[in-house]
Amino acid sequence: MIYTPYAWLPLASAILLASIAVYAGYYRRLAACRPFRALMWLSSLFSLIFALNLVVAPLGLRVLLLHLIYIPGAFIAPAILIMVVEHTGHAAWITRRRLGALLIVPVVTVILTLTPPLYPLFRHSPQMIVDGSLSNVVFSRGPWYWIYYGYGTVLSICALAILTVSLLTHAQRRQEMLLLILGIIVPFLADILTTLRITPLPGYAWTPLLLACTGVIYGWALLRGQIFTVVPIARGAVMDHIEDLVIVLSTQGQIADFNSAAQVVCGIPPQAIGALVDVLPPAWADLLRCHDREPMGKSEVTVGLGEERHIYDLVVSTINDRRGRPVGHLFILHDVTERKRAEDALREANQSLQAQLAEIQQLQILLREQATHDVLTGLFNRRYMQEILDQSLAHAARERSPLSVMMIDIDHFKKLNDAYGHKAGDMMLQAMGALLRGQTRQMDTACRYGGEEFVVIMSTATLDMAMGRADELRQAFEEMRVEYDSHELQGTISAGVATFPKHGGDSDTLLRAADQALYMAKATGRNRVCAADTALGAASKLLTAP
Ligand code: GH3
Ligand code: MG
Ligand code: MG
Repeated sequence: MIYTPYAWLPLASAILLASIAVYAGYYRRLAACRPFRALMWLSSLFSLIFALNLVVAPLGLRVLLLHLIYIPGAFIAPAILIMVVEHTGHAAWITRRRLGALLIVPVVTVILTLTPPLYPLFRHSPQMIVDGSLSNVVFSRGPWYWIYYGYGTVLSICALAILTVSLLTHAQRRQEMLLLILGIIVPFLADILTTLRITPLPGYAWTPLLLACTGVIYGWALLRGQIFTVVPIARGAVMDHIEDLVIVLSTQGQIADFNSAAQVVCGIPPQAIGALVDVLPPAWADLLRCHDREPMGKSEVTVGLGEERHIYDLVVSTINDRRGRPVGHLFILHDVTERKRAEDALREANQSLQAQLAEIQQLQILLREQATHDVLTGLFNRRYMQEILDQSLAHAARERSPLSVMMIDIDHFKKLNDAYGHKAGDMMLQAMGALLRGQTRQMDTACRYGGEEFVVIMSTATLDMAMGRADELRQAFEEMRVEYDSHELQGTISAGVATFPKHGGDSDTLLRAADQALYMAKATGRNRVCAADTALGAASKLLTAP
């Protein structure tokens, strides 16, 4: 062991780089964070091995360490390139195959450095250069060294070129791109100088120190949220604990961020940040693409089919940077499937209730109709007539106005039934119903009293008026012809008329008086109208008495 203060620099760099790598772990979801952390770990290891090499004395051990240093060292340039590619939004470019191709030279280099017989191809003839407390080992370089070195240089130039293009195309990210370029160009130039041995201390690697500087620049930028946050949004606990799905796309259509809920529900692959939405399952990719093209605020979207179908309230908003320039779109999806299902169920239940209600109302109308009407003729029935007569009589008594009742009976109806059948009789009854409905005034009430008997209540009608109307009805019925089964049915009616208060003060008396008048009409030859005459009524009573 030898002590040299020069060992402190790489050791401190190693610790610093490792700290940055750990710290960056908090940002592992951000674009380019993985390669950035890899770069920090590789650089840290590189610095640590270099520090160790400075403090051990035996040349053999130092040579071994200086070969082992390529295990991390050979991968630093690819890590830088991948970091830049991801950071500029081309993560999709890094396929497994391309990554493999990118690592061929570093892997071959590591193999050469670990295989002593092949040392001459890479580095050989180690030589110790002592300068005060500092002693460095320098090697003669084989052909592969220059291949390896050229390859690293090409990768660095590529990274710088990508950053430059990005710098020119994304004006709003200029500061960030410049920082990145600086972070790469400084160790790159230092490495060239060291390799060409243009250095105050031959064999002493400045690279670890400069990589640490790069790390600090990036780390600081990370802290400020300037480099790795493509879209500065509220992150962390809030994002990951809300049930809504949150996805952020950059203006270039790359996935910039998402929360845990979105990751699970949308099936977002773990390393999706920086990739285009194509990495998502097609349903989600289409949805995001379509709404990203024309963000329209609030809308309702459906994803999946059948049982898997989910309905979301989607809110798309544009995210602007501090200067108000759009940098991406924020998608928030709120699952409303359950609510919609409940609403649908309610609506269905409501509809079926409404239908039932309508049916009940129909039935009620029918029942009311049946309670007051005769089914065959459509006239009021006897029960309802009784009610109307009582009310009309009470009204007539109050108003001291007359009221007439007409009782009608079809003549020889039995014969008609017998001759043509019951159905023909029914048709005749219906025709009579139609006649009564057509001929009676608004204020009159016509009803089927029973069988082939009908009653008409005529409010305010005097006996004469009622007699006149009854005779009109009689004539009309006589003239009426009813078509039935190639027959022309015809008939006559007889009617009796009684008037309040002359022939009776209550419905029973009045109806009986009308009935007696009807009987008179029948007895005196039918097809006629008789008035209830008290005297005749008495006579009819006498006649019918046994
Ligand atoms: P009158 O001239 O004396 O009134 O003789 P009529 O045959 O009309 O009298 P009757 O009371 O003897 O017969 C009434 C008949 O009316 C008996 C019954 O079969 C018939 N009838 C009662 N209700 C209905 C009905 O709803 N449809 C049919 N087709 N016939 C009915
Ligand atoms: Mg009859
Ligand atoms: Mg009868």
